[in-house]
Amino acid sequence: MAKRQRVRRRPALPTAGSGRRGRGDQKLPGGILAGERGTWRKKWTDRLPVALIFPNTYAVAASNLGWQLVYDLLNEHPAVVAERFVLPVVGARPLSLESGRPLTDFALVCYSLSFEGDSLTLLELLAAGGLTLEAAARDDDHPLVIGGGVGVWLNPEPLAPATDLFILGEAEVALPPVLQFLVAQWPRLGRRLLPRLAADFSACYVPALYHPSYDEQGRLLAMTVQSDAPARVVPALLREPAAGETAMVAGYSRILSPRAEFSDLFLVELGRGCSRNCRFCAAGFIYRPPRLWSPEAIRAALDHCPPAIRRIGLLGMEMAAPETLAAISALIAERGKSLSFSSLRADALTPALLELLAASRIKTAVLAPDGASERLRRIINKGLSEEAVLQAGEKLAAIGVTTLKLYCMLGLPGEEDGDLLELVGMIRRLKRGLLALGRRRGRLTEIQLSVSSFVPKPWTPFQYHPFAGVAELVRRLKLLQGELAGEANVRISAEAPDKAYFQAVVARGDRRLGLALIAMAAGEKRGNWRRQLTGLGVDPSWYASRPRADGEIFPWEIVDPGITARFLAAEYRRALAGKSGQPCRVGACKVCGVCDG
Ligand code: SF4
Repeated sequence: MAKRQRVRRRPALPTAGSGRRGRGDQKLPGGILAGERGTWRKKWTDRLPVALIFPNTYAVAASNLGWQLVYDLLNEHPAVVAERFVLPVVGARPLSLESGRPLTDFALVCYSLSFEGDSLTLLELLAAGGLTLEAAARDDDHPLVIGGGVGVWLNPEPLAPATDLFILGEAEVALPPVLQFLVAQWPRLGRRLLPRLAADFSACYVPALYHPSYDEQGRLLAMTVQSDAPARVVPALLREPAAGETAMVAGYSRILSPRAEFSDLFLVELGRGCSRNCRFCAAGFIYRPPRLWSPEAIRAALDHCPPAIRRIGLLGMEMAAPETLAAISALIAERGKSLSFSSLRADALTPALLELLAASRIKTAVLAPDGASERLRRIINKGLSEEAVLQAGEKLAAIGVTTLKLYCMLGLPGEEDGDLLELVGMIRRLKRGLLALGRRRGRLTEIQLSVSSFVPKPWTPFQYHPFAGVAELVRRLKLLQGELAGEANVRISAEAPDKAYFQAVVARGDRRLGLALIAMAAGEKRGNWRRQLTGLGVDPSWYASRPRADGEIFPWEIVDPGITARFLAAEYRRALAGKSGQPCRVGACKVCGVCDG
């Protein structure tokens, strides 16, 4: 097997700094791989060449644990050489990061989609790389295009017209058997293999074998299945090995780069999924049942942290028991590292956790009320009181936090102006408390309110709910900004609602939308995305802002993560009635359909 090597700058690698070009014309940011750890360099001779695309910037891609894992799984196979592609600079031809080759040199073109908003970017990248976008128009002279990642797991249909094969679920279990099959066929890969893949591998979805029909209102009527393909595709899920099986290693940062979004952070997964049942959160539903990794698996992941990296970021803290957190923290401290936290549960700041935060000299902390008022937090099943947020803010300021970030969504089901005014009131009360504390300590804590627009996602109870609409979201945002304008020590930032609108269109899109995205990616850009879609005869509001009825067949139901539509519809009704839901109780519950109880 080829060894994973530290990267030395290859003279042939094109860099913007040197102005040198490789075999194509993409300019890579100066020395993009310089300082990167975890890079694979393998010879191509007699190996199956695989392109691995992440349709976003290098900084975002290099921080994505899923993409890193797939890169390793591919290259750990001795008969495979996998090279990565990220977004090139505008107008440039995409080339692989490792050897500067174009997409058309690869037999397999794999992509990992984490965010549905990146779907159009992905298609543009494929087009810029010289690929024919419509799968139906490609023959065996073209590479096979294979899709994966949580974005397509949630709903593969918008990218179905461009994709030959989807591999759905968690890569550790879904990818290796399919890869082994493809390696065995290499160099005689071809579309004739697709029906076999669909029939023999439960996580494989071959869109060409399924034919949608629609009713007169445009809603999906049925998916007709051809050949031996299953009626629905079950994503593969990882489980901890039983006694006697090979021990597992929890997910961790396999690529470390000074240019990554979390450049100085080594990330370790404490588990997958979440037991809290927040109704807006797609990850909390499709990763069911929630799984916490054993201390041994987490310890094994920590063993991979290079000595030079001092900070450890723990993912999945929401679920971890205080004793587990304490044990892991002690281990991290023992190794001379400090901890970093993405977001903290306001109602779970135990004295031990606060001690740990203080020892890690945390200066910025994030709390996520998500809903503007207590009523909305009941609707989304966040279950967080204002008092819990106020107390958490003061506790964090007391241990030296100088920036307190609050995440909140606008446009949640049932939201009214009164909810936004309640948020403004909470921020003012929080500010008063922090001010009093700051005066005593001689150091003020700033509040940063970060606002995003709510996007209804498939496989959540809000899959039935309409997106609030750009004009309404802008109005609510202005209301918030107006109320908080001039408040010293309070800053507000917001994502553009138009971006969320595009996500809302694609999130619950179908193949007809996918064909329009292909036309947009391949054609000349005239006007914004809304105008382009409308020009292609597609009404974006039909996808984003149409209320869905209980009982409607959804395009994403081609995937079967085990959650029943009955459960989701009942949860939606409970949400609208302002009733909270139960958290997961693995081993003692069958309510959503995923577990045997
Ligand atoms: S059946 Fe119960 S415990 Fe299992 S995933 Fe569903 S809600 Fe959670």
